[in-house]
Amino acid sequence: PDITMAALPPSTARMYGSRAAVVDEDRIVTYDELDVATARVSAALRAAGVGDGDVVLLHLGNSIEFLVCYYGSLRAGAAVTPVNPLQPMPGLRAQLAETGASIAFTGSAQLDRLLEADSDHGVTAVVLADRPGVDVETVPDGVITLAEFTAGHTDPAITDVVGSDLAHLAFTGGTTGVSKGVRVLHRNVVANVTQMVGWRAGHAVVADATGLVRLESRDGADERGVVPGSAATVVVSPLFHAHALINMSFLLLCGATQVLAGRFDPAGMLELIERHRATYVTGSPAMWHALASHPDVAHRDLTSVRVVSSGAAPIDQVTLETLTSAFPAGAVVEGYGLTEATCLVSSAPLTGDGEYRLGSVGLPTFDTEIQIRSADDRAAVLEPGQRGELWVRGPQVTDGYHNHPEITAAQYVDGWLDTGDIAYRDYDGYLYICDRAKDMLIYKGYNVYPRELEEILVTHPDVAAAAVVGREAGSVGQEPVAFIVAAAGHQVDTHRLQAYVAEQVLPYKKIRDVLVVDSLPTSAAGKVQKVALRERLVTA
Ligand code: ATP
Repeated sequence: PDITMAALPPSTARMYGSRAAVVDEDRIVTYDELDVATARVSAALRAAGVGDGDVVLLHLGNSIEFLVCYYGSLRAGAAVTPVNPLQPMPGLRAQLAETGASIAFTGSAQLDRLLEADSDHGVTAVVLADRPGVDVETVPDGVITLAEFTAGHTDPAITDVVGSDLAHLAFTGGTTGVSKGVRVLHRNVVANVTQMVGWRAGHAVVADATGLVRLESRDGADERGVVPGSAATVVVSPLFHAHALINMSFLLLCGATQVLAGRFDPAGMLELIERHRATYVTGSPAMWHALASHPDVAHRDLTSVRVVSSGAAPIDQVTLETLTSAFPAGAVVEGYGLTEATCLVSSAPLTGDGEYRLGSVGLPTFDTEIQIRSADDRAAVLEPGQRGELWVRGPQVTDGYHNHPEITAAQYVDGWLDTGDIAYRDYDGYLYICDRAKDMLIYKGYNVYPRELEEILVTHPDVAAAAVVGREAGSVGQEPVAFIVAAAGHQVDTHRLQAYVAEQVLPYKKIRDVLVVDSLPTSAAGKVQKVALRERLVTA
């Protein structure tokens, strides 16, 4: 049989049984309990007529209920479309309409918004999957609680999920424009999770005749990786985003204990790391920036952490260095990926051959090929050292966008995916992301990569964070303008800062204007929203 995500809860229960799988505030769920709870949700969904071909909206924050409803839906054969519980009305409405979700798991805090967004009643069942103890005053007609929904359903549902079934309609971050739904199949998720287990834990995932899986140690498994069965990890990134979602399955397969935290708060995260002796922590650069410079770093014992993984957006060298000293026993590694390739494309290898190279997002994971192609001629594959568009091919590359055949045809060509990122490779194959193609500026015919300027800006002592965007400047094209957050207790002298950058770059890359702001707008996934910054320039 195909290996599918439906096999994950029973397989991990068989491997890890009574070990804690998830810690959510003062609640703990074991691998066995997670298996039973997801089987109940799956059986209840099946009884409600939900299965193959149906789409389940997961409108929940990080919680045990998120995992139970997610794996329960996949076990039932339905596809899941996760959405930020704080998603404003237009986005929520669009996601409901585009996916045709027929059932929703939500929480009381966001229930009203969901009901309003579902004005045409496409959602036939709304299930309230709150944490226990949430006071639900009156449950509106047609809405039931998770306990009511699963009552009496104890038998694991028998499903016949196959690898080519749809697992997720995963919406991209919307960093560069409107968020699009990506069709992620079970085989894509299984491939990507298997790649992570190999790359970061040095183990292979093997299936038996029933389709259940187990791990097998491969040569080259070593101490730095997530050792299956021994990792505790603190999860603060939102599970509705591809980065944390796929990481969640990876960690379960490794037998880790995942400690869920609510909204990111650096002091709280440091406390959780110390309390749970976390060994593996993942997050976005925005989080790491806040965490590494927090005063509590000095008072907390962070020596348990062996791996600090950063992804979702570029991390600057200054943050990387601060992070390395904050976690003395941890290797700080950067991973690169995108929703269109399920999640992970490349990362610094933690096991086997390969090393960590500063500024690089490492090597492509197993079975993953990359090419750097010319932006002007997509057929021209470039040499090491040359910058161009990054294309990816591998089993984690998805089926394309849901309901967008034209964009799919433009970006998915002959099994290769155009990532929309500009990158180069060194002579050993290590990958370096320069910028998003959409963020690159053209000034007097020259390419300017904002990321290069941001890297320089954050090395200035007065600067805590920086984002560079292009301002339309007539016939010369777009000129680079910097938005700066001042370092605590510092004043930014904008002219001096411009001169500081000008000394280090070619004249056409000079920053033409500096705007000091209190903070940079970031998405839930921790990415700077440059669209919002460009809009500010237009309206200013
Ligand atoms: P949208 O496609 O809707 O604009 P998005 O690109 O943010 O949103 P995601 O799939 O969440 O959608 O993010 C993938 C992108 O994130 C990559 O294409 C890349 O630009 C960026 N990214 C991810 N990891 C890294 C990294 N380590 N370094 C630099 N950029 C990264």
